[in-house]
Amino acid sequence: MVPRKQETINQWILPTNRRKNLANRILITLLLLLAFPFGCSNNKMNDNTQNTSVAEPSATDPLSIHQRAIAIDMHVDTAQRLLDEDVDLQQELSDGHFDAVRAKAGNLDAQFFSIWVEPQLFGGGGARAIKRADDQIATVRALAEKHPETWLLATSADDIRRAVREGKIAALLGLEGGYAIDERLENVQRYYDLGVRYMSPAWSVSTSWAGSSGDDVGRTRGLNEFGKSVVREMNRLGMMIDVSHVSDPTFWDIVNSSTAPVIATHSACRAIADVPRNLTDDMIHALAKTGGVVNVIFYPEHLEPGWQALKKKVDVEIDAMVREASASEPGSAVQKKIARDRVRQREYGRRLPPVNVSRIVDHIDHIVKLVGVDHVGMGSDFDGVQITTSDLATVAELPNLTRELLRRGYSESDVNKILGGNMLRVMEAHAR
Ligand SMILES: [Zn+2]
Repeated sequence: MVPRKQETINQWILPTNRRKNLANRILITLLLLLAFPFGCSNNKMNDNTQNTSVAEPSATDPLSIHQRAIAIDMHVDTAQRLLDEDVDLQQELSDGHFDAVRAKAGNLDAQFFSIWVEPQLFGGGGARAIKRADDQIATVRALAEKHPETWLLATSADDIRRAVREGKIAALLGLEGGYAIDERLENVQRYYDLGVRYMSPAWSVSTSWAGSSGDDVGRTRGLNEFGKSVVREMNRLGMMIDVSHVSDPTFWDIVNSSTAPVIATHSACRAIADVPRNLTDDMIHALAKTGGVVNVIFYPEHLEPGWQALKKKVDVEIDAMVREASASEPGSAVQKKIARDRVRQREYGRRLPPVNVSRIVDHIDHIVKLVGVDHVGMGSDFDGVQITTSDLATVAELPNLTRELLRRGYSESDVNKILGGNMLRVMEAHAR
């Protein structure tokens, strides 16, 4: 071809020094291309894909790797703080585990806000349960409406990627406990239309249609016919099914009937910490087979062997203190609960042994050894627990998780999957 011929001719006719200059220019151009590949200013967008480009030199220190990853936390209880305490998440709060300032500091990209209806306070169904869920959803939606410079209300993997491109935090919704659907199938679509993208059929109290790991009836209760129709409806809509909190029979009914990948938004491994809330190895295998993800919780009670028994002892010791705090709080039932939790928070910190991020990675490691690195993620349960791990105490310390993963030999590609890539895959599988 003509250009090739021309190049050959040029090589012969150019003086030696000009040929050297040309070679230098080519070398410089190549180096510039290596340093600035095709003007993609946001390195995060190149991550969470399998192929880490060899042409892209990147810092290999833990913080740089953490910053490049898309980090998705599947579960915080901060919506209740927004509603009950009217906290301003734009400020760095002096208490709790989560706000926009600390989320930015921890390089979090997407946060699922749990819409939790406590059945003891709001009913296991009915108008009050629905209102409680709707009010929390409204506070999260208002967050994005009032502060669009910080938050982007998201319902899909594409929305999360857009938030990353725009330097915002994606805010997403998940329903914890199916109480708010009030045993009516049409309400599943109602919540989907409000932006909810996952639901757990039960929290610590069983519903008529699904058993919980937190009560006696749940031990033998799986999904009834209505429960199975809820799973079908969620599959039809593209709403993820969350097995955190459900009982063992309910877990098995869900994985055996769902046609879409099943997730646990905030759970850990029973093989390490033997509590009913955690998943057995068989369950982890079955969940992975659906293509799903176990998002490991950061709560010591579900992480550390024997910690739950110690906590029960402490609960007895501090019982009078907790009651006193509740009795002397003049506010509503919700305010009394907040007062009780403040005492627990203080006393657990004083009386229980610290647990650190290394234990979280023990659970991640266990899941990876069982089913590979494609089926594990993270779900902190921040603001839903009275105590957190000592070196991942708030969202600001999220880079410590990446640091520990790298120290244990995980690659950047593995870290990308664990922090959020696996959940992006599952969300894409649900996209309609
Ligand atoms: Zn929970």
